[in-house]
This record gives sequence, C-alpha cells and structure tokens, in this order.
Amino acid sequence: MKEIHYKDIVEEVAGMCQRANYNLGDDVYSAFKKALSSERSETGKEVLAQLIENADIAQAEQVPMCQDTGTAVFIVELGQDCHVTGGLLVNAINEGVAKGYGEGYLRNSMIYNPLNRKNTGNNTPAIVHIELVEGDQMVLHMTAKGGGAENMSALKMLKPSDGIEGVKEYILSVVKVAGPNACPPLIVGIGIGGNFERCAYLAKKSLFRPIGIRHPDPDVAALEEELIASINRLGIGPQGMGGSTTALDVKVEAESCHIAALPVAVNLNCHASRHQTAVL
Ligand code: SF4
Repeated sequence: MKEIHYKDIVEEVAGMCQRANYNLGDDVYSAFKKALSSERSETGKEVLAQLIENADIAQAEQVPMCQDTGTAVFIVELGQDCHVTGGLLVNAINEGVAKGYGEGYLRNSMIYNPLNRKNTGNNTPAIVHIELVEGDQMVLHMTAKGGGAENMSALKMLKPSDGIEGVKEYILSVVKVAGPNACPPLIVGIGIGGNFERCAYLAKKSLFRPIGIRHPDPDVAALEEELIASINRLGIGPQGMGGSTTALDVKVEAESCHIAALPVAVNLNCHASRHQTAVL
C-alpha cells in the first residue's frame, strides 16, 4: 500500500491551478496554429493570431490567459492500493485550490450558494470526481473551466427513436445557440448514454482528452470527425466573428444506457481550455 500525504496533494494542486491558468496546453496552442493556417476568414485569422499572442504573453509573464480563471474541476484516478494520510483527499484538493488561486492572484469565482451569491473568497469548493482504479498511484487531472462556455452547455433526454441523426441534430443546435457566448473556437465535449447525471459526467470527462486524440472505438472516432466538420460549417468562427474555425475539436464518450433512453450532454469548452495532469 502506497501512502501519499495530505500536504503533498495540497502543494501539487496549488501548482496545477497556477500552471493551468498561465500556460495554455501544447495541444490547444498547436490547434490554434493549425487553425490559423486553415481559417478562411480574414477576421477569423486575426482573432486566432490575437489568441496566440495572448497565450504567449500569459506564459512569458506568468499571468492568467483570461480574466475568468474558472471553476477548478478535478478527475482523480485513485489506485485502490493508494492511501491518503494526514487528512481527507477532497479537503487537500480544496486547500490546494485556495492556496494556488490565492498565491497566484487568480480571480475567485466561486460562491457559497446560488441563492445568496456570496463569494467564498478562495475559489473553493472545487468540483471533484473520483474514479477508483487498479494500482497504487494517484493521477490528478485538473481543468480550470470557464463559466461562459459552461453556461451554454446543455443536456437532453432524447428518445431512442431519434437515433444517431437526432443526436447529431441536437449537438449542432446547442453549438448554434451558444454562438459567440461560449468563447469559440470551442472544444465540444459530448456524453451519450448512461443516465441523466452519468451523461453529463461523460461529456465533462471527454474534455480531459487532449486535442487531436481520437476515441479508440472507430465508430465513435468517425462521429467525432463528422461533428468537427459539421460544426465548422456553421460559420460562427473564432470569438463568433465568422469563419471556418468554430470547433478546434469534438470529443465523444459513449456508454450503455436503458432501452427507453438516449441521453445526450454537450459540455462546451472555450478557447482557454486549461488542463493539467499530475501523478503522485
Ligand atoms: S468562457 Fe473561457 S474564454 Fe470565455 S471568459 Fe470564461 S474562461 Fe475566458
């Protein structure tokens, strides 16, 4: 049984929060560059060039790439032979978020509850999902998820008779309604199947897969490719200014569901797609 101390998790999480906000991932940065060479609109090209410059400045000066520094969302792959000592895992993650956001001068965006709207003052609580896996490692995946793109996300319980065409139609309708409000170019995360809450989780989880990595199931991978092309024909473009780059990528996760159900969740991520992974 491997032991991981509470304080080590706090330190790791604090660093992840800062690195995520200052340094755009290589996958997103490369996708910007690729889009710049393929974008057909001059305005779209100009916006992409500004996004690249923005990411360069954020990295060089170690400042946040966006004023919205996001909700800290974690997926923890927790080996069942790994034991956390010195305190609760979720408390360690929250302490790390408070430290990282506080010491990094990152905006605090979380409120105590949706009714009183009072800011918690340290960007906690984080949203923490834990998956028990084999082994003795703890793998922390973190994203700083922007509020604008999250607000334009949606879930619908389709009918099985709607079929795959109904699924595609629904996904396109969500992206169309989002328009510029989700801060495109987007990474579109899609969950299909499960039940109401599992479907939303699948959509979120899909966003942790780096840009350009296709789903291992060839049918799901083909659906991802088809959706990238359809979404990019919508003409929304970078920052909604028009163009051929509305989505940098589409990710799909699909799972078993009830015979009477066809849940579909669309979790939009903005161009400030900030993610980090750490292994303890
Ligand atoms: S949705 Fe993303 S790009 Fe838009 S304001 Fe929020 S973090 Fe920034």
